[in-house]
Amino acid sequence: MTGLQHPPHEQHMATPPGRGIFDPQLLDRCISCGFCLPACPTYAVSKDEGSSPRGRITLMRALETGRLDEDDPRLREESSFCLGCRACEPVCPAGVQYGDLLEEWRDHQWRGRHRPPLAQALMMVAERTPLLRMMGLVRRHARTAAVPVQTSLMLGCFERGLFPGVSRAVRTLLPDIAVPPQQGCCGALHAHNGESEKGRELARKLGEQLPGTIVTTAGGCAAHLAGVLGRDRVHELSEHLAKTGATPVGEVKIDGRRARVAIQDSCHLRNGLRVFAEPRALISAVADFVPVRGDESCCGSAGTYSLLRPRDSKRILAPKLDAYEAAGVDYVVTVNPGCQQQLHANLRRRESAIRAVHLADLLAAAAEGRPLTRGRRWRVPRVRFDLRRGSRRRGASGGTAGWSA
Ligand code: SF4
Ligand code: SF4
Repeated sequence: MTGLQHPPHEQHMATPPGRGIFDPQLLDRCISCGFCLPACPTYAVSKDEGSSPRGRITLMRALETGRLDEDDPRLREESSFCLGCRACEPVCPAGVQYGDLLEEWRDHQWRGRHRPPLAQALMMVAERTPLLRMMGLVRRHARTAAVPVQTSLMLGCFERGLFPGVSRAVRTLLPDIAVPPQQGCCGALHAHNGESEKGRELARKLGEQLPGTIVTTAGGCAAHLAGVLGRDRVHELSEHLAKTGATPVGEVKIDGRRARVAIQDSCHLRNGLRVFAEPRALISAVADFVPVRGDESCCGSAGTYSLLRPRDSKRILAPKLDAYEAAGVDYVVTVNPGCQQQLHANLRRRESAIRAVHLADLLAAAAEGRPLTRGRRWRVPRVRFDLRRGSRRRGASGGTAGWSA
């Protein structure tokens, strides 16, 4: 519990003037009805009102009015425990823009020494384009357009390094798309980690670097960029394919049958931009789409969350992986690189035969008539060093060494 009372609906009043941390109009919109509680993943795992959207808004009001000291540990804990998934927004009858409130909260709460050092380090890497170029993360896919540019592909900072095949797959699906070599970070990482003005500045700069409509394969980046550059300027990939009337071709098959494919939504794409029907329609065109309970809720990746709070991240993910396995799917499609990494790493850790693939990879494999790599349990001998005898011994492994390709 927060230890602070939230006002009942009928007693709701405007927050008194306070420290100027929050936009009062945003903070006042909450009527404390509690409709958002069942949608909140952190409330689901904690059953604690203080870890729900309503409880956190009560904490924000207490911070704003000075009823809580800025260094109160509950403020630090809850601003960090929240995934920022915005699942509380679509279910809110009062239209509370919780994502904006959370950004204002973290801007204040995570200033200076209070910002997690890991988040700070990642932001420093992402905002330095020369550093990304040095690492070969820009050059790898960049190319200049020979014709006037209508659409540009945004290369996500970490996606281009972790999953370079995603950008290649987009070029298979959209051969005319330009991939300008000069492009930096979109700033979503900064906006979600207490640097929202820097996040907006980076988005505006990227908007100048990418001509035409910006297409992105990262749901989180799409939502942030659209918030700064305008909804018409930015398309997430599935949305772009749907808007342009592109029809997927081919099929993804396994052992002579259509592959069974589930989805993991991107929270910001679903809850921020309300894009969720489009990727499902595209999957259904090339494979058997399998709806899985909870496929719309956060996977626990949530930007830097899986790195900053690994135990909570796994707690949130575990029932989802159980559900995918119970549904007997071959693949889980993702539309965001953070979700891709989260599912890939944790499916592998539990020795699951299910494979996480990005939507672009699935569609490109169908179009090219090539098989998608498929996961299977792969046990290999483990090599152990015997220090006393200075020799190497081979033994049966109890773990998974890697994915079969
Ligand atoms: S549903 Fe909306 S108005 Fe109701 S408690 Fe949650 S945030 Fe506040
Ligand atoms: S953003 Fe997600 S985790 Fe945070 S309060 Fe809203 S639903 Fe809960």
